[in-house]
Amino acid sequence: MPIDPNFEQNREKVDEENGVAVWGPVDPPEEQGIHGTHVAVDYDICIADGACLEDCPVDVFTWVDTPDHPTSELKVEPTHEDQCIDCMLCVDVCPVDAIDVDPGRAGRI
Ligand code: SF4
Repeated sequence: MPIDPNFEQNREKVDEENGVAVWGPVDPPEEQGIHGTHVAVDYDICIADGACLEDCPVDVFTWVDTPDHPTSELKVEPTHEDQCIDCMLCVDVCPVDAIDVDPGRAGRI
């Protein structure tokens, strides 16, 4: 199942990690939620494929550890989402549709 593009309406912001919003529910290590707002990654879908991190022209993503998560023990955090230029490459290359990019969401929290 792909990331919910309406997560802002359907989820609550429950935390912040490295300056990146976390949208619940969160129940680690199994449930990690969606991380980011302008550039959002559903950690519960992400399989740590890494294509987004390699292809992003402005290096938005960094690896973070998520030990004992069922789909992968690494995730891509949109650490520098404020640098995103909305090229949509990461959305296109993600094999499991874990990423949603919407410039309209920037700065709304
Ligand atoms: S939309 Fe483009 S610039 Fe923005 S995070 Fe994805 S790959 Fe990087």
